[in-house]
Amino acid sequence: MIVAVDGPAASGKGTIAKAIAHHHGLPHLDTGLLYRTVGLAVLRAGGDPADAGDALAACAFEEVPASDPALRSEAAGRAASVVSAHPAVRGALLQRQRDFARRPGGAVLDGRDIGTVIAPEARPKLFVTASAEIRARRRFDELERLGLATIYEHVLADIRARDERDAGRDAAPLVQARDAVLLDTSDMDVAAATAAALAIVAGA
Ligand code: C5P
Repeated sequence: MIVAVDGPAASGKGTIAKAIAHHHGLPHLDTGLLYRTVGLAVLRAGGDPADAGDALAACAFEEVPASDPALRSEAAGRAASVVSAHPAVRGALLQRQRDFARRPGGAVLDGRDIGTVIAPEARPKLFVTASAEIRARRRFDELERLGLATIYEHVLADIRARDERDAGRDAAPLVQARDAVLLDTSDMDVAAATAAALAIVAGA
């Protein structure tokens, strides 16, 4: 079984994908971390995420530095969103995602284009969303918990800008696959959203 979990920033898709993977004993890939790795490497090299050459040069990494806290920062997320619009970057990261999806035994992947580009054969496909205000509130609370001082309005503006970039780009824009089940978590807590996602997978 390949499970695709797509959706916008801070929609809860990562938490949901992890829960599905845990429940079904499947490996899980957070594909956003690949783009974050590229974005962060460009920033650290003093490059420009908007420059396709700088971004492509950062794609040859072996492993995602998963324990690096900077990977989860807003700066890395923003840079990820910029580098991910380059078709060359998407192409460079395509095969490792496809290989992961097609592991014998199956896998769960979350991102923006899993159900549309990486694994169109995935069943089931979930499109997880929530209003921009709710997603900004969740991200704001998370940053506060991490001790990172921030302003709600800035987080909301950032979420909106990222939505626009992710949905408006030509290369693999964020869009709900025609055969994806929509899960709006605006009025759900984590437990309710997870239960709803597991029910969708069970019914697929
Ligand atoms: O999911 P996360 O917020 O970590 O992703 C960071 C950025 O990486 C997103 O804003 C998006 O632009 C990009 N991304 C993508 N395709 C994916 C996963 C992430 O374009 N499959």
